[in-house]
Amino acid sequence: ETKPHIVLLGAGYAGMMTTKKLLQKLSAQDADITLVNKHNYHYQTTWLHEVAAGTIDVNRSRIMISDVIDSNRVHIIQDTVLKIDKDNKKVELSNSELTYDYLVISLGFEKASFGISGMDEHAFSIQDVNQSRLIRDHIEYQFAKYQNDVENRDESMLTIIVGGAGFTGIEFCGELAERIPELCKKYDIPRNQVRIINVEGMDSILPGFDPELAEYAEQSLRTRGIEFRLGTFIKEVKEGSIIVGEGEEIRAGTFIWTGGVQANRLVGEAGFELTKGKVNVDNTLRPAGYEDIFILGDCSWVLDKETAIPYPPTAQLAIQEADTCAHNIHTLIFGGTLQEFKYDNKGTVASLGGRDAMGTVFDGRKLYGIQAKVMKNVIDDRYLFMLGGPKLVLKKGKFRPF
Ligand code: FAD
Repeated sequence: ETKPHIVLLGAGYAGMMTTKKLLQKLSAQDADITLVNKHNYHYQTTWLHEVAAGTIDVNRSRIMISDVIDSNRVHIIQDTVLKIDKDNKKVELSNSELTYDYLVISLGFEKASFGISGMDEHAFSIQDVNQSRLIRDHIEYQFAKYQNDVENRDESMLTIIVGGAGFTGIEFCGELAERIPELCKKYDIPRNQVRIINVEGMDSILPGFDPELAEYAEQSLRTRGIEFRLGTFIKEVKEGSIIVGEGEEIRAGTFIWTGGVQANRLVGEAGFELTKGKVNVDNTLRPAGYEDIFILGDCSWVLDKETAIPYPPTAQLAIQEADTCAHNIHTLIFGGTLQEFKYDNKGTVASLGGRDAMGTVFDGRKLYGIQAKVMKNVIDDRYLFMLGGPKLVLKKGKFRPF
């Protein structure tokens, strides 16, 4: 008798937690489980702005998959998914092909360029560990180059433009506010020669966030030297500059786009029905017509049944979906009742660099400064605990707000 084969694509928040939950629910006799990921490590996507700014070490943000997932129970394949063939129940990888009985797609997000000319070629994006590390090194290289070649130097090398004032853009600016003074010291450059400019098309930062919290964030960042160009649309990205508004050119050594993300393009290419680039799934987290496929995290579009508003694409959502997904796969194998996903919003906290942060907690209460920062650390450590227990919290956790 053959066992069902469960294949999970992507070891991000959704993929890792679903694998963990499946291991709790199923024994080795019940099913074979395969987890495919581009790298042999899992990373904390929510810390990547810190990696990109250089305020935490790369290795702090990543965890070897085999350190937290039992490789005797799960076949871990390090490879890149190239194609999902949903009608033949096959997945094409760079080096092999897999067939499945149940498929979990949790391949996360990628940069959305919205057709802005030059965005694909000239913009960095805080997307994965490798890109984030490249941003960190690129910024530092600009400082080194500026100081090394006095004759050809150009102050715009020291300008960093962050496109977008959403959650990621604002958190990243907060880290830059901490990091840039350190780089100035290291390369003997006065802080006032460095510009950090946030360019946002809307008239205020953090659209959708509580206005009082957004105002607090803006003040905190302005005080620490971040310039804002609100109500300013980016028209084009070139090497060494961007064009905004009616044709104004702003020169910069570094441009990072945080203004938009979309689902991994593989889900669109697979032919699933999409809304805003994400796959429509029902409350059991499956796309219509494909009972054996679950699509989680930033790849899917799930509506709150009561309000018909889609849930926000967050790590928190991806982690919670894992429970429902694992439960439902168990149900499909052994029978029972399928679970409907219901999001439990535990609040959102944005870090603003150093000791500063702001956000809301589960009861809607607003937190600012150190208090918010402590809460942010609690959220991060809680996830590490779920993933790897106390050992992982001790190794990678965040304990002090500074
Ligand atoms: P991911 O965690 O992105 O994982 C996708 C995985 O798939 C990765 O391991 C990747 O390597 C792998 N993969 C991708 N393509 C392939 C391929 N072709 N083949 C094989 N493997 C592949 N959310 C919050 O709730 N709170 C926050 O404070 C917060 N802060 C954020 C800060 C930043 C800087 C960013 C960028 C995002 C933040 N988010 C936050 C959003 C959150 O990170 C995402 O919603 C979350 O990562 C989605 O999880 P996921 O499992 O869908 O995908």
